[in-house]
Amino acid sequence: MHEECGVFALYGNGQIENPAEYAYLALYAMQHRGQQSCGIAVSNDGVIDCEKGMGLVSEVFSEDKLAKLSGQNITAHVLYSAKGASNIQSAQPIVMRYGKGRLCVATNGSLVNAKELRDLLAQNGAMFRSNSDAELIAQIVAKERMFCHSIEEAVKMTCENIKGAYSMVIMSPTKIVAARDPYGFRPLVLGKMPEGCYVVVSETCALNAIGAEFVRDIMPGEIVVIDESGARTYYQKENCERKICIFEYIYFARPDSVMDGVSIHGSRVNAGRLLARQHPVEADIVIGVPDSGLDAATGYARESGIPFGMGFVRNNYVGRTFIKPTQEQRSTSVGIKLNVLAENIKGKRVVMVDDSIVRGTTCADIIRLLKNAGAKEVHVRISSPTIHHPCFYGTDIPTREELTSNHHSVDELCEIIGADSLGFLDRDSLGELIGACSKTYCDACFTGDYPVE
Ligand code: AMP
Repeated sequence: MHEECGVFALYGNGQIENPAEYAYLALYAMQHRGQQSCGIAVSNDGVIDCEKGMGLVSEVFSEDKLAKLSGQNITAHVLYSAKGASNIQSAQPIVMRYGKGRLCVATNGSLVNAKELRDLLAQNGAMFRSNSDAELIAQIVAKERMFCHSIEEAVKMTCENIKGAYSMVIMSPTKIVAARDPYGFRPLVLGKMPEGCYVVVSETCALNAIGAEFVRDIMPGEIVVIDESGARTYYQKENCERKICIFEYIYFARPDSVMDGVSIHGSRVNAGRLLARQHPVEADIVIGVPDSGLDAATGYARESGIPFGMGFVRNNYVGRTFIKPTQEQRSTSVGIKLNVLAENIKGKRVVMVDDSIVRGTTCADIIRLLKNAGAKEVHVRISSPTIHHPCFYGTDIPTREELTSNHHSVDELCEIIGADSLGFLDRDSLGELIGACSKTYCDACFTGDYPVE
């Protein structure tokens, strides 16, 4: 199961009024990272209470529910698990009672050795209620904690055993521990509330939403322990090799976030500029497919000198098309989400910028909308390279069979989607998106070059 998620933790230290409300606001800001389930856990005098539900943050949490979640330390989560595999048992945070009390885990990413670890625990009598990595991690931390002196030692031991992508927060009755895997596939950020207490989030946009200050990115391989004496750092190993997911910049993260020191918006504008250089075309207007194609479209327009314009109006109350479970549902919902601004399009040669082509259904539907609205030509520019490989580190990239670029050349694809021309970003220029001189990012979905087996 692949999971795209957002995590949050706040160590209130007796200084925050209604901390659950901050968790709510932070999750709300990270809703784009997962729309299938969400949860908030609070720690209160050694007891951890948790409220979870299926659906959006605003659907799951009412004022009454939030008011009941009293406690100073908080862990929270939004989850999107792929292929309709989600259920309430997989919703996070996972709260567990074990021999030394309670603990709670919320994570973003995907472990590559989950099956092996799960089988080993199961052979020793462990029981699982879900197949989520968070539950597996909770079991391992609990087991380690039985023989360690502190939760941070137990987390350190756990990190030695788990492999793959994890940006996680673990809450004991008195501490919060945040850990990022040694490659830093997924983002994790440390912030500070105006009251001085620490907060951990997946994306900086969540810090803005709760009025917290950005302190720094948690480093690949770093374990941060937060308790009443402040925040301390441990490293799993020295000189970790950075491999942040490049797809976070291309599609997944919110444009107003900054990840490992690089603005998401800025990286998408760069992608658009590069595309304009790599695939120039004569046209009258550049439009972006909302939302993730808009930033790259402005980059394309600036570089090419072709005016940027609004091509679509988006209905903000429809979820991401991609999350509809079946192919049939996916292809029918594009028209509900997007409507063409015909007055900007009619009779024009249009450059349409989108972030990616995965299965190919969205793009074909959108081009049809534009042509029906009277576009003379539609030149499609994709601000990422062609996708050929699945992701094992937490982004929902489907199987090789479902990836349309594995079956068709760019020219064939151009014809299938009904475009007048089609250009993808050159995969050798991916580093330029984030100003990387060396390969400090993971591009396995484009290249098949997997940092962890
Ligand atoms: P399609 O080619 O029809 O599968 O859809 C591609 C569109 O889905 C892109 O334009 C993105 O907006 C969106 N998308 C791409 N990758 C993902 C992902 N991993 N999770 C959710 N949506 C995605």
